[in-house]
Amino acid sequence: MEGQMRTSTFDVAIIGAGIAGLAAAISMRRSGHDVTVYERSSFKMEVGAAINMPPQAVRIMRAWDLPTPMTSTEEHTLGQREPRSDHSQQSTFGGTILSGTQRVNFKTGQPMPGQKFDEIAEQYGAPFVSYHRADLHALLRTKAEELGAHIRLKSNVVDIDCRAGALSLSKDDASLEEIKHDLLIIADGINTSFILHAVGHDVPLNREGRMCFRTLIPTSKILANKKACSLYTSEDGAMTGFDGVSGSMNPQTGVMFIQYPCRGGELMNVAVFDKPREDRVHKEDWNSPATIEDALEPLSGFHEGFRALVRCADGMRAFTIALREPLPTYVNGRAVLIGDAAHPMLPSLAGGGSTSLEDAATLGVLFSDVSQDASLETVTSRLALYNAVRRPRDATQQVISNTMFKPQPASSLKDKIGDFYGGHLPDKVLGGWTKETCEFVCGYDVFVETEKAMRWAEERQWKDIDVLPDGLVQHFGDVKVAGLEENVRAF
Ligand SMILES: Cc1cc2nc3c(=O)[nH]c(=O)nc-3n(C[C@H](O)[C@H](O)[C@H](O)COP(=O)(O)OP(=O)(O)OC[C@H]3O[C@@H](n4cnc5c(N)ncnc54)[C@H](O)[C@@H]3O)c2cc1C
Repeated sequence: MEGQMRTSTFDVAIIGAGIAGLAAAISMRRSGHDVTVYERSSFKMEVGAAINMPPQAVRIMRAWDLPTPMTSTEEHTLGQREPRSDHSQQSTFGGTILSGTQRVNFKTGQPMPGQKFDEIAEQYGAPFVSYHRADLHALLRTKAEELGAHIRLKSNVVDIDCRAGALSLSKDDASLEEIKHDLLIIADGINTSFILHAVGHDVPLNREGRMCFRTLIPTSKILANKKACSLYTSEDGAMTGFDGVSGSMNPQTGVMFIQYPCRGGELMNVAVFDKPREDRVHKEDWNSPATIEDALEPLSGFHEGFRALVRCADGMRAFTIALREPLPTYVNGRAVLIGDAAHPMLPSLAGGGSTSLEDAATLGVLFSDVSQDASLETVTSRLALYNAVRRPRDATQQVISNTMFKPQPASSLKDKIGDFYGGHLPDKVLGGWTKETCEFVCGYDVFVETEKAMRWAEERQWKDIDVLPDGLVQHFGDVKVAGLEENVRAF
């Protein structure tokens, strides 16, 4: 492929300006590199429902100086040191602190005892925050552009050359524009076009025909509906679960109902996961049209409150759930897959967004001291370490998350996980943000662990670094996180 002249600094291309791509743009700009993001859409209608950021991801956002909402304990801590700044919904792009998780009996509609997040937020140095995907996208895009990333819209990447670091864009006149970079970060989402390029063979998506119906409902409409509100009213009359994640499942059919607020509580995100059906037409687009009746159908047998709540919606969207087996590698030459392109996963550990931020943060650290015209050898060794740091965590979360509809203890998945993660797996079902889930997932500090791996690789002069020695870094588990003071600092 014929290339252009390289620029004077380390020159990074990112394919796809979704959550992972924009996060990578922020991280690589913070490391001082030139960043061009190629996005095929025109961002005219940035869509999506809500997306949940657990504490380990919120800590990354804070480390990048992104405004995030604070718990009252955090505000109190900060308030004792400096004047209160503007923590309004607008300034934090609608970030909404979730209060906890709640199960609701699908037949009776009765809330059952749940898990409060206050202590967890204190223990893990940040709250659980939910966003409207468009708000989170706007927050990341604003920061990436502020930092100087160049985002090229309507730029469809149709081919890449991993060794050369080159990509081809299709132009309106059907010709191709070829551009060379030092590093290609592939963040083109679940329907990625570049698995074959990075991995060497295809690893197809598996669509079992399960549909997710999703909608955003104004909270005021739900509150005005007595039947819908009954889902939040316990037998003693108290309203619970309205400001947290609430979930119900019909164990016979596996149909699942999940809701949680976003945009400062103005909107309730509602998702109905249907059972697999052979007659389903696949809908690859996240935003495929559906009807409210479509979403009501799987809820037969559920308490009337659930259906009343869905009927409060003004519209419905749907997508077909797709899974992929963990990839044997994320890297090839000067190219690396991140986010959903590398490891799409179901939402039970809120991993879609959070692992995307972790991937981006890892790249920022690993390339922090790489300068212009880095040799292929330098880039491939950094990416070998990327693989060693990220695969154990990303692929393990992928496997565990993908058992969302057939919950089983993490330890029973050892056979599927053993190839990339040899550490401890709890004898518990992980999901729904129980204490065990939080202990396993939320303590991870991507900056600390990646730095450890870097120091080790430097000592070895970047030789034989494809597999980290046991115990060198912590991929999961109750890792000590920086104290509250340190984590509030970045607001
Ligand atoms: C429109 C949309 C709506 C979504 N809604 C939800 C939701 O409601 N709930 C949920 O849990 N998750 C949703 N997701 C997925 C969620 O964003 C991801 O799981 C997670 O944030 C990881 O994102 P990603 O950046 O890896 O992939 P994505 O968010 O899918 O972003 C990929 C980006 O790459 C661009 N792209 C693709 N191919 C090319 C190409 N060849 N050249 C240039 N650009 C390309 C796409 O236009 C897109 O902007 C949605 C994703 C999208 C794109």
